[in-house]
Parts: sequence; structure tokens; C-alpha cells
Amino acid sequence: MQMLSTRGAAAVTPSMAILRGLAPDGGLYVPAEFPQFTIEEIAALAPLSYQERALCVLSRFLPDFTQDELKSAIAGAYGTGFDCEQIAPMEKVGAWAHALELWHGPTLAFKDMALQLLPYLLTMSGKKHGENREVFILVATSGDTGKAALEGFLDVPGTRCCVFYPDGGVSQAQRLQMVTTGGSNTHVIAVKGNFDDAQTGVKKIFSDPAFAAQMDAQGRVLSSANSINFGRLVPQVVYYFSAYADLIGEGAIQPGDKVNFCVPTGNFGDILAADYAGKAGLPVGRLICASNENNVLTDFIRTGAYDIRSRAFFRTISPSMDILISSNLERLLFDLCGNDGEKVAALMAQLKAEGAYQVDADVLEKLQAKYAAGYVDESGIRAEIARSWKEDGYLMDTHTAVASAVLREYMKTTGDQTVSVIVSTASPYKFGASVLEAIAGGEAVSGRDDFACCAMLSELTKTREPDQIAGLPNMPVRHSAVCEKDAMAEAVLSAVK
Ligand SMILES: *Cc1c(COP(=O)(O)O)cnc(C)c1O
Repeated sequence: MQMLSTRGAAAVTPSMAILRGLAPDGGLYVPAEFPQFTIEEIAALAPLSYQERALCVLSRFLPDFTQDELKSAIAGAYGTGFDCEQIAPMEKVGAWAHALELWHGPTLAFKDMALQLLPYLLTMSGKKHGENREVFILVATSGDTGKAALEGFLDVPGTRCCVFYPDGGVSQAQRLQMVTTGGSNTHVIAVKGNFDDAQTGVKKIFSDPAFAAQMDAQGRVLSSANSINFGRLVPQVVYYFSAYADLIGEGAIQPGDKVNFCVPTGNFGDILAADYAGKAGLPVGRLICASNENNVLTDFIRTGAYDIRSRAFFRTISPSMDILISSNLERLLFDLCGNDGEKVAALMAQLKAEGAYQVDADVLEKLQAKYAAGYVDESGIRAEIARSWKEDGYLMDTHTAVASAVLREYMKTTGDQTVSVIVSTASPYKFGASVLEAIAGGEAVSGRDDFACCAMLSELTKTREPDQIAGLPNMPVRHSAVCEKDAMAEAVLSAVK
């Protein structure tokens, strides 16, 4: 299997795509064609463990890795760092939906599903290509990727990880998770700007040949742990297969039945992985793209116009979705445009120059055949958390609540009765203050910090507060660097001096 760049650069192997992160023409790597799983092969996943399912799926998407390589990577990634044996358990949400819980890993958000595995894939890819420089991972985070990347790469030999997060744009717990990270190969820097500024800055560093030369002179080579890296996407394809296998296992569906997935979306990585699972043969029904008030994707899917010109950026209680420039949409466009790299490059250039583009009618038609979209505002998110806890006895975080509310609205307006899965992306305790406020009211949180809120949430709901949160306030802060948004390259260089 070869990987193409969305902007037309020469094809490479999956391991090379993972090693590079971004293609040299600034495009993203995508599979030239997709492996095809039959319904029988998918049904055969039902009795298997998550690790075995992962091996089946990954070996087909990453044919230049040996079975032994993948087996040891999977064993290392999905082991004791997770708090449950199923790794990605499915829970029933009332009688109307299922939740695919992707937050049982070390940092309590779904980013662990990919970032626990990526360091293995990346170091193996380096070996395959005779790379003996230190792989320098640059990350822009809206809150959850940063800690997951730091945790994944922590003290991994031959790697170094530098994370940029928006100053004031992440929750107290998210910030503390990052700035208390130990290890000898980690850097954390606050950027005076929002997530889009951080992501744009990182992309700029990647496309700067002078910076690459400076790194090379230090014996380093840049790579990415953001979802622009194919190595982030492919582990995410696994859990859609796993969810489907679980639904077969519990008798909720028959092999071959379609399943809808509703995904709380920011950078479009998670939902695109579901699309890729579908392209590989998983019977995916409708993909429902759920947004918060930063609803550029809702408008895009409904109208075909991607327009950020007159859009305010909102800081919401689902901060990991506070994104206006959604990187992975480029991969979807490439697919919808029939792998036309020139066309995608032109659309991306237009977005950069004018802040907007409009896709053709035929592309819009293909988009809407597969995707639906909706969004929910802040009070809608709180109301959904409260409703879910009261009616379904299911405690959800602010991001998951976006998906839950959007799915209910979708089902109501379309009458679509297909078995539906809410992709649950974070532990409620990662956003404990907002969750507590939603179920107990504003008085409950006033005067309490995130940690006191989590303790109260635990008391009130009789659910267990994860150790990773409870221990945070007592950990020493190890990273305090702050930089201007146009001085990120200098900040990296001075951090590694
Ligand atoms: C990153 C994140 C999202 C958005 O995922 P994308 O792949 O960027 O669309 C949603 N919820 C949580 C909790 C996240 O950390």
C-alpha cells in the first residue's frame, strides 16, 4: 500500500509517511487505496481482544511493518496504562444509543488511543529508513493532544517532544497535566494566541527549510504527532472496527447491519478515521459531525462553503473542539475530489489567501451522502449533561455531550433509527468543573477550583475520580515558558539549547 500526498507529491510507504508527518509539498498523506475487509472477517473480530483486533486492522493498513513489530507495538501501547481490559469499552446510553468510551488511557482523553501507539510506529519507521537523527516531535494542542503526546514519548530513546498550547485556552487540569510532565525529552510552551495560532505556527515551522537545516545541524529531524500524521489516524480506525465487533458480540446488530457514528469534532481526525473504516469495508451508515459554537464544519457540511472570514473564535467548555481551521478536512476533500491533488492544493491556497472556499455541487452531493452535521451551544451542552445523568444515568464530559445532543437532534429530525454510537472522547473528570456545574448548578462550582469540583462530582454521582486528576495539584510545575505567536521557532530553539 502506498501513501499519496493530498497536494500531489510523490507516493511513499506508510512508514515513510509516519516518519515525515507532513508531505514535502505541505499536503497530508492518505492511502492510495484502502484494504478491504469482508463482513466475515469483521464478524470474526467479535470474540477477539482489543489487541488482537488492532493487529488485524493495523497489519492491513501498514503492510510495511511485520506482524512481530505490530504485535510488540500493540502490546506496549494498550497495556497497563489503561484502566480497563477492553481498552475501548462500549456502554449503553439509555435504550437509545451506545457510547464508545475512548478515555480509559493514561491522560483520560481519546488522544491516548493513537498517541500510546505512535511512538512505537515512529521509532520503528525511523529504523526502517536508516534514520539515526533524534526525531523531534512538534505538537500544537487544543488541550488533550499535548499531554497524550508528552506521555507517549516520555523518555522514549531517540525522540524529543515539544508541545505548544494556547495560553489561557485550556482547562486548569489540562494545563497542569502538561506542565507537570517529567522526563528528559519533553518541552511545554504556552503561546499567546488561540489553538489555530499554535497550529498555524507549527505548520509554518514544518515548511521552513532553514529551520529544518538548523535542526539537522543539531542531529535532529522534525516530525509531527498531530493528526496530520497518518500514524495518528490509523490507530483510530481500529476502535471503529472494535465498536462494531462489540455490537455484534452483544447482539445489538447482525453482521452487515449499518451503524451510525456521531463524533464530537475539532480537527476532523476522529471522524475521518470512521470514514476510513467505512472505506475499508466496515458497514458505516451516517457519520454525524458534532460541533460546539465553533461550528464552521456544520456550515460546511450543510452548504459546501468553508468560510472563516467573519467568524468569531469562541472559547467554550469543550475546548478540545475550539478549532476553526480543521486540518484533516483536507484529507476528506482529496477523497471527495477523486484524489485530485491539484484541486485540493488550489482550495487550500484559496483558504489561506481569502479565508474561504466553496466546493462544487458534485463534491457537496458526495459529502452529504455520507455526512450529517449539527452543533450545540454552551447551555445546550450543560443541559445534555444534566439530562443524560438524570434520564440515562450516564455521566458524560462536555465534548461527549456535544455529540449526544447533536445525535438526539439528528434522530428526531430525520427519523433515522439505525443503531447509533456516540463517540465518548474524554473522562467527565477531565472537565470536572463544567460537568459539576451542569448537574448541580452554578452555586456548586463557585469558589471551587477544578480539583475541588472533581471531588464534589465524585461525591455527588458516586463515581470514581481517576488518580491522574486527584494527584495533580501536588505535582511540581516543570515547564513555564511562554512565547508570542510569531516567535514559536525561536522558542523551540531556545528550549533545546
Ligand atoms: C481532540 C478532541 C476532540 C476532537 O477530535 P478531532 O480528531 O480533532 O476532531 C474531541 N473531544 C476531545 C475530548 C478531544 O480531546
